[in-house]
Amino acid sequence: MHFFYDAVTRIENHAITRWKQSGKKVVGYTCSYVPPEIFHAAGILPVRLRGIETDGMEIGDAYFGPFICSFPKCLLQQAGKGEFSFLDGVLIIPGCDAMRRLDECWRKAGEDHQGIVPTWFEYFDVPHKSEVHGMNWFVQEIRNLIERIERQFGVSVTGTALRESIREYNRGRRLLKTVETLRAEKNVRVSGTDVFSATIAGTVLPREEYTRQLEKWLEDLSGRDPLEGEKKRLMVIGSIADEIDLFQLIENGTDAVVVAENLCFGVRYEGNEIPVNGDPILSLARHYLETSVCPRMFGKYKQRLALLREKIERAGVEGVILQNIRFCDLHGSENGLFQRDLEAEGIPCLRLEREYGPLKETGRIKLRIDAFLEQIA
Ligand code: SF4
Repeated sequence: MHFFYDAVTRIENHAITRWKQSGKKVVGYTCSYVPPEIFHAAGILPVRLRGIETDGMEIGDAYFGPFICSFPKCLLQQAGKGEFSFLDGVLIIPGCDAMRRLDECWRKAGEDHQGIVPTWFEYFDVPHKSEVHGMNWFVQEIRNLIERIERQFGVSVTGTALRESIREYNRGRRLLKTVETLRAEKNVRVSGTDVFSATIAGTVLPREEYTRQLEKWLEDLSGRDPLEGEKKRLMVIGSIADEIDLFQLIENGTDAVVVAENLCFGVRYEGNEIPVNGDPILSLARHYLETSVCPRMFGKYKQRLALLREKIERAGVEGVILQNIRFCDLHGSENGLFQRDLEAEGIPCLRLEREYGPLKETGRIKLRIDAFLEQIA
């Protein structure tokens, strides 16, 4: 686990530094709708941008103002501090309006803070529906992205290279599926914090290295004893979360274990492999637009609820923590619907509103989690 913890607890981990030292390029991107396979096929390391390690908000606050989600603010704060200076490019995705504003705020901040906007600073649009019009648009968006990468970095992204990259990512997907099977066991032998770290690591590490480490970790896991003591089995869902402190807060010193989650940095449709035959661009478009369901998409509530039910049943979940970052309308409102529907089925739910970034309100959050655990028999 040490390798994964190193990768997920710092913005520029050792593997990224080694990659840079070998003269290769790194591009940061902001949302799970981007197919990282495209960068992989171009020989570029795709790194999902995270706002961890922030120790102030003076830059984020100045450009965004007070009434907005703290995730894009933390990203801007870190950009303004030069923490993303290892990047050769950035791709912004309008996952929500707050993330769309990151594009303009980062550009504006770049006028005042020298060198924080990389030469290649691009926007990748994602439709809000996956039916015909949306899908055609998304396919075109992917083709445009490939052309822009080829022009900027002097590379060629061929169909063969894309298929190879899809194969490589599929290997990781299969391994994560096995992890999900393991954590769903009655006598669970792995903490949610460990699984979450291993999943986030997949978004910030060179893929081959990640897959190798995942294989080793799985070998180790299969020989492990179950965690000590009777455990209350939880699921965590909601707004963006890539801070393992939240999971540690839930699990450390309690009798709880997170056995499932539905978070855009976590495992959503594990094992959902991308077909390698046929047009790779079409396969990527279908996979990322149709299966990465998030409340930003129209008409997918029932699909998301069905996914939660399936996870609850498979992993024997006894309680669900529905967290949302303050001012996150997408997850804040959807969590209300989930709570209504899950509680109607007898599944205890805890709604938590919080800020992204270093957990400032640990006392309040811990108190509420402890009270919730007491509710679960
Ligand atoms: S947490 Fe909500 S508001 Fe914040 S970036 Fe994600 S979707 Fe947007």
